[in-house]
Amino acid sequence: MREVVHIQAGQCGNQIGAKFWEVMSAEHGIAGDGTYHGDNPLQLQRIDVYFHEGMEGRYVPRAVLTDLEPGTMDSIRGGPFGDLFRPDNFVFGQSGAGNNWAKGHYTEGAELVDSVMEVIRKESESCDVLQGFQLTHSMGGGTGSGMGTLLVSKIKEEYPDRILSTYSVVPSPKVSDTVVEPYNATLSIHQLVENADQCFALDNEALYDICFRTLKLSNPSYGDLNQLIANAITGTTCSLRFPGQLNCDLRKLAVNMVPFPRLHFFLVGFAPLTAAGSQSFRVLTVPELTQQAFDAKNMMCAADPRHGRYLTCAMMFRGTMSSKEVDDQMLQMVSKNSSYFVEWIPNNLKASICDIPPKGLAMSSVFIGNSTAIQEAWKRVADQFTVMFRRKAYLHWYTGEGMDEMEFTEAESNLNDLVSEYQQYQDATADEEDISGDFEDEGAYGE
Ligand code: GDP
Repeated sequence: MREVVHIQAGQCGNQIGAKFWEVMSAEHGIAGDGTYHGDNPLQLQRIDVYFHEGMEGRYVPRAVLTDLEPGTMDSIRGGPFGDLFRPDNFVFGQSGAGNNWAKGHYTEGAELVDSVMEVIRKESESCDVLQGFQLTHSMGGGTGSGMGTLLVSKIKEEYPDRILSTYSVVPSPKVSDTVVEPYNATLSIHQLVENADQCFALDNEALYDICFRTLKLSNPSYGDLNQLIANAITGTTCSLRFPGQLNCDLRKLAVNMVPFPRLHFFLVGFAPLTAAGSQSFRVLTVPELTQQAFDAKNMMCAADPRHGRYLTCAMMFRGTMSSKEVDDQMLQMVSKNSSYFVEWIPNNLKASICDIPPKGLAMSSVFIGNSTAIQEAWKRVADQFTVMFRRKAYLHWYTGEGMDEMEFTEAESNLNDLVSEYQQYQDATADEEDISGDFEDEGAYGE
C-alpha cells in the first residue's frame, strides 16, 4: 500500500481538514467512531492509504492535528468525528500565534514543532510504503502559515524522497480583515516554492465569489467555503483512495503536472457546484461536467485561466459514465481551446474516471490545472505586500520575534520572480529558442 500522512495546522487548516475527514470517511463508509458501515467493497480496497486498522476493526486516520491554541481542536474533538482521530495525534500549545507568521515559524511554533515531528515520525513508521504527506493550512494566519511551512521544511529535510503536497488557503480581504495577511502569505509562498512538491491554491476570494454569485448565498460563512474546499480535497485525492488508473499516487500526479519544479501551484475546479446541505437534483452529462469544471467561474482561485495558458491539466470524473465519451470530450476541449494550452507540451490534458461518486451526487468532475494565469492571484498578494512593506508598516511585530527585514525583501523578490517565470512560459512558443537558461535551478522534474 502507498500511504499518505495527513497534517492539519492552525484554525483554518484544522477546520478544512476536519471537513475533509468527515466527507471522505463518508465516501468510504466509515462512521464517526471509525467503524465500517459501507456497502461496496471498492470502499475498502485502498482504505490503507489514509487509515490504519486499529483495535476492534476500527479505522483510524493517518492524521496529525496541530495548533498553537486549543480552541479549534477542542471543537473537533467534541464534534461528531472527534472520536475518529488518535487522541495522541492532537498536538497543541496555549500561546496562539496572533496572526504573526514569525511566531508560528520562529518562536512559539518552533517550540512545538519537535513534538509534532515526533507524531509525524510515528505515523510514517507505521506505514508500509509511505508515498508522502499532505498538509492543510491557511497562508494568511500565524500557525498554519508560519508553523505549517516550518513543518514543510522539516518534513522535506527528513523525508527528501517523499512527495509533499499542500492544500493552501490564500487570504482575501473579502473574507478576513487582518491587515498583515499579505505578509504572512508572501513569507509562506517563499517557503512553499522551495520545499513543497505540489500546492493546491484554494483562494478565499474565489470561494467567496462562488458562494455569493453562483450559490446565491448572501452572507457566506467559513462553513460554506469549507464545503467547497472539502469537494476540492476529496476530488483531488479520489484517485489515491479508490482503484483506478491515472494519477493513482502523489508522485505520478506531480510528475505529470509539474514541468518545472518551482511552478507547482494548481487551480482546482469542481462541478456541479452545490451549497452545503442542498442537493443537485439534475444529473449532469459528461459534456456539462467538462464545461463546468473548466469554467473560470468554477475555479477555486481568483485567476482567470483565459488570461493565461495551461502548462498541464488533469480532469477526474466520478460516477458511472462511458470512457469513450470522456476521451471525446477531452479531445474536443483541447482542439476547441488550443490557444489556452501550451503547444510545447503535447497531450497536456489527462482524464481519469473513478467509479464511486461523491455522496449525494450521481456524477461529478474535478479539474486540476497548472495555469500561468495563477500569477494573477500571486500579483494580488504581491501588490498588497508591497504597499505596506514600502512604508515598513507592521514590521516591528515580526522583527520583535527576531526576524530580519532581509527575509521580507527575499520573500518579495522570490514571489516577483515566480510571477515573471509564469509570464515567460506563457509567452513561450514551441519553436522559440530554449528559454530555460534564463532561470536558475530549473529543469525537467526529476524523480
Ligand atoms: P492560524 O490559526 O494562526 O493558522 O490562523 P487562521 O487559520 O485563522 O488564518 C487566517 C486566515 O485563514 C484568514 O485568511 C482567514 O480568512 C482564513 N480562514 C480561517 N478559518 C478559515 C476557514 O475555516 N475556512 C477558510 N476557507 N478560511 C479560513
